[in-house]
Amino acid sequence: MKRRQFVGMAIALSAGLPFRGFASTLTAVPDLPAKSLDGADLLLRGSSVEALAASLAGQLWLPGHANYEQARRIWNGMFDKRPALIARCTGASDVVQAVNFAREHRLLTAVRAGGHSFSGKSTCNGGIMIDLEPMTGVRVDPGARRAFLETGSRLLQLDRETQAFGLATTAGTVGDTGAAGLTLGGGLGRLGRRFGLSCDNVVGADVVTAAGTLVHASESENSDLLWGLRGGGGNFGVVTNLEYRLHPVDPTVLAGDVVWPIEQARDVLRYLVEFGETMPDELGLEAALVWTPEGKPLVSVEACWSADHAAGEKVLAPLRRLGKPFADTIAPMPYVALQSHDDAGLPAGRNYYAKNGFLPTLDEAGIDQILAAFREAPTRFIVFLSPYGGAYGRVAVEATAFPNRKEKHLVLMISQWTDAEGDRHLADLRGSWNRIDPLTRGFYANLADPDTSSIVIRQNYGPNIARLSALKAKYDPMNLFRLNANVPPKT
Ligand SMILES: Cc1cc2nc3c(=O)[nH]c(=O)nc-3n(C[C@H](O)[C@H](O)[C@H](O)COP(=O)(O)OP(=O)(O)OC[C@H]3O[C@@H](n4cnc5c(N)ncnc54)[C@H](O)[C@@H]3O)c2cc1C
Repeated sequence: MKRRQFVGMAIALSAGLPFRGFASTLTAVPDLPAKSLDGADLLLRGSSVEALAASLAGQLWLPGHANYEQARRIWNGMFDKRPALIARCTGASDVVQAVNFAREHRLLTAVRAGGHSFSGKSTCNGGIMIDLEPMTGVRVDPGARRAFLETGSRLLQLDRETQAFGLATTAGTVGDTGAAGLTLGGGLGRLGRRFGLSCDNVVGADVVTAAGTLVHASESENSDLLWGLRGGGGNFGVVTNLEYRLHPVDPTVLAGDVVWPIEQARDVLRYLVEFGETMPDELGLEAALVWTPEGKPLVSVEACWSADHAAGEKVLAPLRRLGKPFADTIAPMPYVALQSHDDAGLPAGRNYYAKNGFLPTLDEAGIDQILAAFREAPTRFIVFLSPYGGAYGRVAVEATAFPNRKEKHLVLMISQWTDAEGDRHLADLRGSWNRIDPLTRGFYANLADPDTSSIVIRQNYGPNIARLSALKAKYDPMNLFRLNANVPPKT
């Protein structure tokens, strides 16, 4: 059956038509032009492509397949790339086959989970996309307070399944984001100041290494690999399952937004900076500078209090009394609803470009710089400012691969557009960011822009880079997994 299905694609390919069904006769698969790891041209023998397809329980989609056009796209529409092959993996055994094929052919390799890479690293031109999208599912062991996640799953699945038992772990703020990419690169979210990064809560992982070997990583088994997976991104292999530590979290949180006219932005940001120094870990806050569709600039602060509501009312009262807000939606709401209420603002398929940096401190002059960059930019974008600290900062820099622990805030600028003026949006955001960049120390690699040089990415790992390079040499000496915040193998 598999072979017949694949051959149907081959016929469609040679006829230049989309695949419409199974073929009744066998036709040789044509040789496929592709790109090597170093970007050189390759020709993949049709027979070896056919053998790969036959070895998979999932499907292999090539250009011309009816689902190829949709499957090759990722969340960020800026990256309009065309892999030579998309291996739709249904489990670790498929991943092993795809990795072996990629390594044996020295084929450019992208790994896609939720496809939300800002910098477009989960797709490529001419390589193989190891697509984990079919691998979804989250199993919760409430007694042990553990969740086991197949790595094609989205964050909302993780939140829904864990909250069914009154449990949770740190997850990002947009439910449609892939859990795997977010977790492996760090994982910031509304519960992060309380429970740490998503990766801090990973206690076990199944990983297909570059050698095509499935290994388990935990504190007692391949603990060096577990260290690397906690913030080292996709450098060490394809992770097929993640085991998370869970925490009791009431399914109803006290959450919402307070919104003020932009004229009050300086007071709001100043309050956020001061309060960020002392606020309880149970509180997650994020300020946003935004433009309404009518062209009006606003400042808002989203709050999520995940403990006792009466205590939360007291903690949040000064923020809500600050200046003259014209909206305040803070109220009890389901945590799961909160975790997807931002999804509509960042829909898949638009073009996105972002810049971010951690701030070791933020004084009055810095606040003014951020506000000026927002208001004076020729094109419109969003600025987010979040207090960091809490449990994020209580982990030593060398304790996990994730390097950015001791800073006070994260600032993030996101531009999105659907018009053909991409160059202008990019230039404007870069220009505005140049005003803020001097305030920053390091950046969040999961939100890094595609222009970030390999040297700067390496530097961002700080004191962990030597250990990461040694680990890379052990698990991926040929740097098969290089489409990520890449760590070069130690030579
Ligand atoms: C709308 C939006 C909201 C976001 N909000 C947050 C947020 O609140 N908090 C936060 O911390 N981050 C946030 N991010 C950033 C997010 O962490 C990264 O974009 C992350 O890479 C997304 O993961 P993914 O699985 O969807 O991405 P993909 O594009 O599928 O993967 C990104 C990269 O991760 C690696 N990777 C993914 N899965 C695997 C795997 N199973 N094994 C090995 N490597 C793998 C690969 O290198 C891949 O290139 C957000 C991003 C978007 C687009």
